[in-house]
Parts: sequence; C-alpha cells; structure tokens
Amino acid sequence: MASERDRTTGFYHQTLETLSPGKRETFLSEELRKIVTHACQNASAIRKKFASAGLKPGDVRSVKDLEKLPITHKHELASLQKEDPPFGGFLGVPMQRLKRICMSPGPIYEPEDTESKNDRWTQAFFAAGFRKGDIGQVTFSYHLVPPAFWFEDALHRLGCIATPGGVGNTEQQVKMMHDLKVTGYIGTPSFLMAVAKKAQELGYDPKNDLALEVGFVSGEMLPESLRSELEETFGMVIRQGYGTADVGCMGFECYHKNGMHFPYNCIVEIVDPETGKQLGPGETGEIVTTVFDEAYPMIRFGTGDLSYYTDEPCDCGRTSGRLVKILGRLDQVTKVKGMFIHPGNVEEVAARFEEIKECQVVVTREGHVDQMTFKVVLADGVTPSDDLAKQIESAIPGSMRVRGKVEFIERKALPEKYSKINDLRKWE
Ligand SMILES: [Zn+2]
Repeated sequence: MASERDRTTGFYHQTLETLSPGKRETFLSEELRKIVTHACQNASAIRKKFASAGLKPGDVRSVKDLEKLPITHKHELASLQKEDPPFGGFLGVPMQRLKRICMSPGPIYEPEDTESKNDRWTQAFFAAGFRKGDIGQVTFSYHLVPPAFWFEDALHRLGCIATPGGVGNTEQQVKMMHDLKVTGYIGTPSFLMAVAKKAQELGYDPKNDLALEVGFVSGEMLPESLRSELEETFGMVIRQGYGTADVGCMGFECYHKNGMHFPYNCIVEIVDPETGKQLGPGETGEIVTTVFDEAYPMIRFGTGDLSYYTDEPCDCGRTSGRLVKILGRLDQVTKVKGMFIHPGNVEEVAARFEEIKECQVVVTREGHVDQMTFKVVLADGVTPSDDLAKQIESAIPGSMRVRGKVEFIERKALPEKYSKINDLRKWE
C-alpha cells in the first residue's frame, strides 16, 4: 500500500532554491568572496594557486572572475597530496574541526566537516522525493569512501530512518527491505536491478511485496530504458544525482527529471577544456566546481567530466541551471570546427531516431576545414531516403553545435568493435 506522502512538490530550502537569476548571482558572488578570503588565509594550496596566476583574493569577486584562476584537476590531487601530505595544502580548518577523513582510490584523502556537502545532498534527496518518515536503505560502501555517510546524514536531515545495507549481501538486504517495509533505495542502478532479481528468486513480487516508493541513484550512468524498467518493476520513482568524493553534490534531478539542478550553494561552471573560459548553455565542456566548504575549499575544481547545461525554467520551480546530461570523460573529446564533441553527443543524436540502429561520426579535413560525417546504419526494414538524411542532419547541431552530413552505410562497413568518433584528420 503506497503511502500518502507528496513526493513531487516542495523544496528543502524554498527561498534559496528559487532565487531570481540576479539574486542568485549576488548570492553566489558573496559566498565566493567569503570562501576565497577564508581559503587564501587558511589553505596554502589555494594561496599558491592565486599567486601562480598573479592574483590577490580581492581579484576574484564574481563567478565570471573565476576564469582568471587555473583549474585544479581531480587527476592532480593524488600527487599534490603526496608532495604535501596529507591533504595537499587544501585543508582549510584546524584538524580538530573535522568530523571524518575518507580515502578514495589514488589514494586521495578527503577531510570532511560535513556541513556544506551534506546540505547539498539533502537538497538532492528532497528533490528526488524523500520525505520525513521514509526508511531509506543505503547500499553504498560504508568503508573508506564517503558517499554512504553523506546519504545517511541527508536522510537524517529530512527526518528519515536509515538502514545501512552497504555493499553486497543481496539476500539479507532484500529481507531487510521486506521485513522493515523500507520505502527508499539509495545506491547504484545496477544494484537495484540485482535486488529485483534476488527478490523474485526469494518468491517476492518486487512491486507488491516490497514497499519501495522512492530511489536516489548515483555512481553510474542511468539510461532511460533502465530507469523505466526499474520504476515499473518496483512501482517506484527513481531520480539521480551527480557528484564526486572531493566536492560532493553538483547536480540532482527533481520530479520533472529534465536535467540535474545545481544545488544553490555551489558554483558549477562548464568550461572550454583548452582555455578554461566559461561556456554558455548547450555548449559541451568540462564540469568545474567551486564549493563553499571551509574544511576543504575546492576553488575551480575540474572533475574531468563533460556536460552541457541549460538555464530554461523547470516546472518544479527551482531556478538554478541544470546539467542536461553527463556525456563522459574529458579524455574522450574531439574538437571539430572549434567545438568539442564527445561519444555521448553522438549517442544522443542517434537516440532521437528509431530508424538509426548504429552510427559512427567520421571527422576529416578538406581544404583546411573540418568535416563531420554521420555514418548511419539503419534499423531493419528502414530504407534510406534524402528526407531521413535531412531530418538527422537538422538534429545534429542541437546536440553537437556543429553541422554534419549523413551517409547511410551497411553494418558490414564498420568493424565489429568501433569507436563512436573516428578522427581521420592528419595534421602534418
Ligand atoms: Zn526541476
């Protein structure tokens, strides 16, 4: 029997999540100035970062000013920490103020005072539909790494109860969900699928014998097909969030699931990976974040993930920008006619047409001009036509910001395994 909770409307911080663009700009700039002052005083790595760019703390006063600063990349953290142990000079408070120190692969140590990070994850949980009184099963690891602790804290902040499932032990976890009438799931999409299978093996109907109504997933890509299958199997609503162990939450879906809202209390930039300049809505670039976290004040932290954002209004009433989609990793990008394209962009175009079975983008150069050709293998029974080619060609710039030609090919023209982008340009 489904509970009567309204999981579709409302906010965790109504005023701050619905600021007008002008007020948000003012709010973020004020918070930025505070964290810059704090970090330059207390964290030697941030002080060095400003000095290396020839800047004083007072030179970074607005979101736009962040462009003046170099980006600290996630892949640099392990070596920075090795040079200046244990935190690479990024610790911004006396050690005694920390609540927890985690360790991610690298190793990278993450000092946490939990306040700012957990507040952002709580916004995410509320938007996903968690409400007071829910029992949420946390199936992330409770060893070394931080997510399970963040999510448990987010549940507590909302007045929910946590059942610490951790990793694996699927059968016990299913029993726990059943016996305790657990209403919320927190974990990866793939583990939720494993829960469905195990529940059926144990003779439970996941929809009627388990009480799951709401899920928050992270840590893996969530294809829409998998989401609908899971939502249908359990009769629940599943929303996702995006973050890293270093900075925490940078985006979360609301009930309307049209991209991942930025939490109100962090700055997310999408930047040109070559120049570090901020890009506009719809342009693909690296996700770079600044968090107002006194303990670990990451300022211009480069995630190495690629995305693009929108600032179109959302029906939920939250006014922040949204990451439309995480496209993949920075090391997979190719630049065509000055725009970065990524295998995720190619898949996105293909996903709009049922007629497309497979496709590959081939990049060539003719007369010093980049050319992009979509080689399309059509689904069985579809005949190639100029009309279809035109429709696909007109959809390409929507995802890739660059025009391209369509060429229909047979499946055998592609190797068994192939990359989505084949760059044939020669630069000698
Ligand atoms: Zn929304």
